Amino acid sequence: MNPLPEWLSAGHDETRFRAMLSPDSPYTLEQLAGESKAITLRRFGRTMSLYAPLYLSNHCSSGCAYCGFASDRKTPRRRLEQEEIRKELGAMKRLGISDVLLLTGERTKAADFDYLRTSVATAAADMQRVTVEAFPMSVSEYRELAEAGCTGITIYQETYDPLRYAELHRWGPKKDFRERLETPSRALEGGIKTVGLGVLLGLADPQEDALMLYRHLRYLGKTYWRAGLSVSFPRIRPQTGSYEPPFPVSDHLLARMIFAFRIALPDVELVLSTRESPAFRDGMAGIGVTRMSIASRTTVGGYHDAESSDRGQFDVFDDRTAEAFCNALRDKNIEPVFKNWEHAYNGPSHMEAEK
Ligand code: SF4
Repeated sequence: MNPLPEWLSAGHDETRFRAMLSPDSPYTLEQLAGESKAITLRRFGRTMSLYAPLYLSNHCSSGCAYCGFASDRKTPRRRLEQEEIRKELGAMKRLGISDVLLLTGERTKAADFDYLRTSVATAAADMQRVTVEAFPMSVSEYRELAEAGCTGITIYQETYDPLRYAELHRWGPKKDFRERLETPSRALEGGIKTVGLGVLLGLADPQEDALMLYRHLRYLGKTYWRAGLSVSFPRIRPQTGSYEPPFPVSDHLLARMIFAFRIALPDVELVLSTRESPAFRDGMAGIGVTRMSIASRTTVGGYHDAESSDRGQFDVFDDRTAEAFCNALRDKNIEPVFKNWEHAYNGPSHMEAEK
């Protein structure tokens, strides 16, 4: 049986998208950059939406080969209690951050749905925008999460190659490829307003993964037409576990991907995190990418305890302060935006609009 659903097969002419990604492309990088920049300027203006991740817990029941939080790592485990979350949020607010992405590992007793929902409510009381990157949930759980104040989720498929997926996800709930693949749809059915997709670049053939990601986004855009969609481009970074990517992605190819997605999907938010170098992030600002993380800590409690020697989920590359990063944006005539969601996302969710 083909493990890929029908909606991930080619539904229209993909010749140009494939060509834009190819190193033998008739399109030069400069041509793509020029087209991507013009579209970005037209659709998003000279702005960069900013957010920061907050790791609630590093407990995890899965064994993803590439992750520093996999359950076989010797990393000390902890979760933040609600008072500690408030302290972290306070430290983030002092950095100017009001848009937070809450993260946990796979569902465990220590960090289960009730814990996550309570943490969302705690964050929503303090922050302008709260999104979540955690374990796959049911439609009714997503509905509860939305009611608690979560407006968006991020869920990476990691790779759309089912064989590579099976090898990399050694044990735990994340082994279920189809369950994960169908998670963005369930979230939107449950009233979550935005979903962020991505693949972890380096795990499998990057061009094939980019093509499947493109199809997934097109499917969601057609099926849930009011949904806000975003794509992230994470490359594997050094982490506890020392996993080395078998399909390393060069700066050149990553730039091609970003431009190809911007040109093919002009309204989709493109996200670049602090996994990338300052030079690459500065280079992509204004010519495709419209949302970036700043001042990120990948440890549990990392904002309050900035001196911790814990390595976290992975090593960040761009460790500039929020102020230094914003100054770099302004030097490029790009306005850092800490709060711009109301205009786009304060309307009804897809499901509310369908009623
Ligand atoms: S990627 Fe997520 S699910 Fe996999 S080991 Fe890391 S925290 Fe757990």
